[in-house]
Amino acid sequence: MSRFWTDKIASLDPYVPGEQPQDKKYIKLNTNESPYSPSSKALEAMAFEVSERLRLYPDPNCATLKNALAKNYQLDANQVFVGNGSDEVLALAFMGYFAGGKPLAFADITYSFYKVYAGLYSIEPKLIPLNDDFDIIPADYENLDVSGVVITNPNAPTGKALPLADIEAILKSNPDVVVLVDEAYVDFGAQSAVSLINQYPNLLVVQTLSKSRALAGIRVGYALGHTDLIEGLERLKNSFNSYPIDRVALAGATAAVEDEAYLKEICEKTIATREKSFKDLEALGFNIIPSATNFVFATHPDKDAEQIYLNLKEQGILVRFFGSNKPRIGNYLRITIGTDEEMAALTAALKTL
Ligand code: PMP
Repeated sequence: MSRFWTDKIASLDPYVPGEQPQDKKYIKLNTNESPYSPSSKALEAMAFEVSERLRLYPDPNCATLKNALAKNYQLDANQVFVGNGSDEVLALAFMGYFAGGKPLAFADITYSFYKVYAGLYSIEPKLIPLNDDFDIIPADYENLDVSGVVITNPNAPTGKALPLADIEAILKSNPDVVVLVDEAYVDFGAQSAVSLINQYPNLLVVQTLSKSRALAGIRVGYALGHTDLIEGLERLKNSFNSYPIDRVALAGATAAVEDEAYLKEICEKTIATREKSFKDLEALGFNIIPSATNFVFATHPDKDAEQIYLNLKEQGILVRFFGSNKPRIGNYLRITIGTDEEMAALTAALKTL
């Protein structure tokens, strides 16, 4: 431990991201990236910024992107906040809305970054168990004495989605705290809570361009909600880094958001491949949780997940293994849906085990 570290730094248990090995070219099915290229309109917009405009600061207000998102979701631009990946948006929301002394409620199996942010801002997690089928039970979230609630819909790494009525019940029974719905994977088949924003001033929906829009590399995420919640995030952002989105990312993100047809096309492809992969993996003896995302969460009753993970890696295919010490999910693998060819390679590799 460095002698310059504060107790705060020493106490952190940082997030371990999925591996991004550089030693050879893998079929990457481990970090839920899209296997498709981003919208060609986004690529053109980014190329233009690179060739003509890099000497200029970006718009700190990200107006073009906010307008495009507002139009898409039929909201006002002041109901939109944008940040450097949804991870940054989540961090600001945790700092601003959940560091209020009381614990923060979220599922015991969910995106592991929430625990990290909670640690960073000294927020005590109130972990709410999933049921035996890995479902969130809305009744467990009724009238909580907490600083806020985070619901991941669809959940990760399980892939399961909650119906909108359940999200609404959670919003209704916790009217005095912010309910953050992390919809990183919503475009792959779940119901978005965006339609509830004008009814529930405590709802903050967080989405990303990293998954369904195939732009993980530019790091753009956003929050949608009541103008008061958005203004709060803006105040935090401006006190921290008033230029969170670089000029290239801003141009690419705006063009990608405007290209709805391409979004639809690649989501439909991913969903079709997911359904086929589901059957192929089941035929190989895996148990798979129904998924509304661009990944599946799978376990094999007779095989060790870590061994499968290591063996696939040797064969040049990366999937996500969270560790055999993880309660309930220690023998599971999270497999991102790649192209049909990549998934065929996965099935072929699994047959050799
Ligand atoms: N939320 C969830 C549930 C995720 O799985 C991820 C990606 N790992 C994120 C948020 C963050 O995505 P990004 O920062 O790329 O927008």
